[in-house]
Amino acid sequence: MEKKELLYEGKAKKLYKTDEDGVLWVEYLDQATALNGAKKDAVSGKGALNNQITSLIFDRLKDEGIPSHFIEKISKTEQLVKFVSIIPLEVVVRNTAAGSFSKRLAIPEGTSLAFPIVEFYFKEDRLDDPFINDDHVRVLSIATTEEIQEIKALAKRVNDALRTLFQKAEIRLIDFKIEVGRDTDGGILLADEISPDTCRLWDMKTQEHLDKDIYRRDLGDLVPVYQEVLQRLAD
Ligand code: UDP
Repeated sequence: MEKKELLYEGKAKKLYKTDEDGVLWVEYLDQATALNGAKKDAVSGKGALNNQITSLIFDRLKDEGIPSHFIEKISKTEQLVKFVSIIPLEVVVRNTAAGSFSKRLAIPEGTSLAFPIVEFYFKEDRLDDPFINDDHVRVLSIATTEEIQEIKALAKRVNDALRTLFQKAEIRLIDFKIEVGRDTDGGILLADEISPDTCRLWDMKTQEHLDKDIYRRDLGDLVPVYQEVLQRLAD
């Protein structure tokens, strides 16, 4: 497989075409960002950690029969994925109150929710990714009613699988964000990454943050923390 021209450069990843139709080459970068890119730093080793963590997770999700874009990890910082047309939604699943949910509803961080909830944010940097509902998704022609149901069901399956996976690593899955895309036949696939950049993970015993809140809230160095997450998942 040969890496071809750069297709897209995101905040923490570069996407390249390959010599194979429908296959993309992803390179994870040593970059941390928060607040929609307003806070940005080079963090040596982060790309390799996130690629290894997300590859391990997508492999496990594949074992659970969850359809995704992931093909394989090809180096410490690189992976191959299927081309999908990304649906411009940040799909957030919450098991426990934290972050924007706690702020918006004045519910203290750490409060367990009676059941997992799925939220949609319109992925549009210009608008700061606003919180939207199913009707907005339909009226903006982001997805159809059937697709919305499919995306929610997929998000809940991912949540069930991730909770089990993290529980074995003595990690509490507070919330996470996924992205989904359409393959060439219009089928919905899980896409993007699942890593401590996109999940809130708390140590089950100490309740310490094992995720990007370390960086967002200036709580210390995120590399040893991400290393710990990888180690626990791999054990
Ligand atoms: N999240 C993400 N990317 C974003 C926004 C949120 O990966 O652009 C993840 C975040 O890491 C957390 C979950 O989605 O696990 C819920 O985030 P929240 O809405 O609470 O926003 P925040 O407090 O991070 O601004």
